[in-house]
Amino acid sequence: MRVRFWGTRGSIACGDPDYMKYGGNTTCVEVRTAGGEVVIFDAGTGIRRLGFHLLKDPSFRRRGYLFLTHFHWDHIQGFPFFTPAFDPSCSFVIHGQFKMGGRLEESLRGQMEHNYFPVKMEAMGARIDYRELIEETVDLPGGARVTARLLNHPQGCFGYRVEDAGRVFVFATDTEPRPDQEVDGKLVELAHGADLLAMDAQYTPEEYPAKVGWGHSTWLDCVKVARAAGVRRVLLTHHDPGHDDAFVDGVVRTARAEFAGLEAAARDMEVALEADRPAAPGPARVTRSVPVKAHAIERSEGLLRVRAPSTVEGLCSPEFRQEVERAMAEDAIREVVVDLAPLEEIDSTALGVLASLYKHAEGQGLAFAVARPRPLVREVLIITRFSEVAPIRDLA
Ligand SMILES: [Zn+2]
Ligand SMILES: [Zn+2]
Repeated sequence: MRVRFWGTRGSIACGDPDYMKYGGNTTCVEVRTAGGEVVIFDAGTGIRRLGFHLLKDPSFRRRGYLFLTHFHWDHIQGFPFFTPAFDPSCSFVIHGQFKMGGRLEESLRGQMEHNYFPVKMEAMGARIDYRELIEETVDLPGGARVTARLLNHPQGCFGYRVEDAGRVFVFATDTEPRPDQEVDGKLVELAHGADLLAMDAQYTPEEYPAKVGWGHSTWLDCVKVARAAGVRRVLLTHHDPGHDDAFVDGVVRTARAEFAGLEAAARDMEVALEADRPAAPGPARVTRSVPVKAHAIERSEGLLRVRAPSTVEGLCSPEFRQEVERAMAEDAIREVVVDLAPLEEIDSTALGVLASLYKHAEGQGLAFAVARPRPLVREVLIITRFSEVAPIRDLA
């Protein structure tokens, strides 16, 4: 596969002349798979030039797969200027975080509303399909696979792992180390054995203390993840709009002393990941440090009542999900209620698990509800609009 960087800037585009080496356009990365498919990560302002390039490229099959990491402006703002989306001979599948009530499409449409933009999304003549993702793996034509995992970022952000013809590229923009972990275990799992990791390095370790909670990493975090995950090559990206080329040059010099295979992603940089060495291993299986507490599944008169585990770890364990999905497949079941009373807290990953159970129930034609959430959990269910599709019920 080939990886090309069309946008490397974080937060806001910078047209200043002293930003042209590393680039002023916001996030957009193109992957050409070994099978010739076009896979695009994020629709920051960099996607505009990618669009022009694609329409001139005879090898472009007039179809592509766009994966959005999240919906902050710098990751979607270029989409209304992506000319292939206006071309009726083109088709795209847009992937993004599972949103309640079909909001993946709304999130893109919203920035083209008449208060903000003169052209409506309906003017886009290409065929556009939407696919909402939870933490899952998508198979693309030609054998490439894309795995999505939620990273630590305000409103959540997907990190993506692309596996194609034995090579692995991991794109982890907009992520901050988890407060309780020296190195983000989930990101290490996603990046395990990658040939190339492009990762958020918005801040220096000196700048970071003033930016805690803003959702971004430092070059040193990138080095730590790369070492822990056994990554071969690292590209720093999501460059801060306050960092000009000379500044980023300095960061790279400092960081390379810690990790030799490190560079900064730059405007139009292209990396070919050829099949010239043994294939990288798949994602690591990290053993959860918190044991899954006992949970119960009761059945009565078509109602499946599932008692949630008390911890987020337990709720997110594959064992819990599989057990509930198995029970949903039983003949007599018509309705599923997840009793959230034991659950002490909730985060975006846990919400993703509830969303996946909801989707699974919907696919089986079952009604789905949650019950008895604690006050903070209830608030999250309402703010995220989860409660609009999965009502909060009373349970005796
Ligand atoms: Zn960003
Ligand atoms: Zn962001």
